[in-house]
Amino acid sequence: MTEDGLGRPLQDLRISVTDRCNFRCDYCMPIENYGHDHNFLPKSEILSFEEITIIVESMLKLGLKKVRITGGEPLLRKDICSLISMIRNLDSELDIAMTTNGTLLGKYANNLSQAGLNRVTVSLDAIEADLFRKLSSTDITPEHILSGISAAINAGLPVKVNTVIIKNYNEDQIIPLVRTFHSMNIPIRFIEYMDVGGTKNWNYDQVVTGQEIRDVIIEHFGNVSANESGYYGEVSNYWRLKDGYAIGFIESVSSPFCSSCTRARISANGNMYTCLFASKGNDLKSLFDLSADKEDIGLAVKAIWEKRTDRYSEIRGKLTNNPMPVEMHFIGG
Ligand code: SAM
Ligand code: SF4
Ligand code: SF4
Repeated sequence: MTEDGLGRPLQDLRISVTDRCNFRCDYCMPIENYGHDHNFLPKSEILSFEEITIIVESMLKLGLKKVRITGGEPLLRKDICSLISMIRNLDSELDIAMTTNGTLLGKYANNLSQAGLNRVTVSLDAIEADLFRKLSSTDITPEHILSGISAAINAGLPVKVNTVIIKNYNEDQIIPLVRTFHSMNIPIRFIEYMDVGGTKNWNYDQVVTGQEIRDVIIEHFGNVSANESGYYGEVSNYWRLKDGYAIGFIESVSSPFCSSCTRARISANGNMYTCLFASKGNDLKSLFDLSADKEDIGLAVKAIWEKRTDRYSEIRGKLTNNPMPVEMHFIGG
């Protein structure tokens, strides 16, 4: 097992397989900054499936337990099911998950499941159709996403839902979202709005904390009780309604969890990041371009992880000169 400079093992890897997306969520890829003329990465600069598979293989030797495929919108990457199969062939026990906006799940759920994906997280920030369209700048309806979720469940993929709540924007969706997923018995997790990416002026006043969301839920559903703590490296804490339904909270702003952060990230163009808030990555793609083999990549990844001392969320209040973190759709959340 390889540990970083603060004794944290490398357990999780998030791979952004594309920087493109069919949504323009206001807090991630605002339409003003990502118009039709936006220059996304050309194919030549994106990691191939073979290169991604080598990176995963090298991390398995260092103790990797979980891989999450993300983006941009990962289901826009051509032939994505082949990548899932290639990773699955490395290790039958590896936990392989995907985070998606759910628009293409109806089309791909069966193939994803057959390729060896273990589970899916679907992001959904509103149930009310007009608000959803406004938040994501698309014509897609929440019903379409819900039908994608049903397709995933029918294909045997367990589903969780991720929601970002922003003050004075979609706070009124907390109860409709909990009600909807409670009735479907699908866990929902509320992620605090983070100061990630440079496209919007994030402001602490826009953050609705996990505790504030719990207060709204308690008002409607009665008391909630804290669940037993999860495994080391789990980012979400779970609370249960009286009937046992679990609701998760990822309180990265109000209650940071850097001390047990076991995540590495790979951007679509092959940079390895050791923190979501890093402004600079470690260029693995160039190593491949210089004909690096499996062993070379393994040594590079190990050296990068061993040097890691990131704990941005724990020290954000003390930083006076924050370098601009990399964009969320690029690093994958
Ligand atoms: N397109 C896919 C999706 O939306 O699920 C995967 C990529 S997206 C960058 C991954 C996750 O990051 C989503 O759940 C999204 O809500 C979350 N996210 C993006 N920007 C965020 C921010 N500023 N604060 C908190 N979560 C954010
Ligand atoms: Fe696309 Fe996901 Fe970002 Fe929304 S959060 S713009 S769906 S990458
Ligand atoms: Fe991990 Fe960086 Fe987030 Fe802390 S701020 S939990 S080190 S990704």
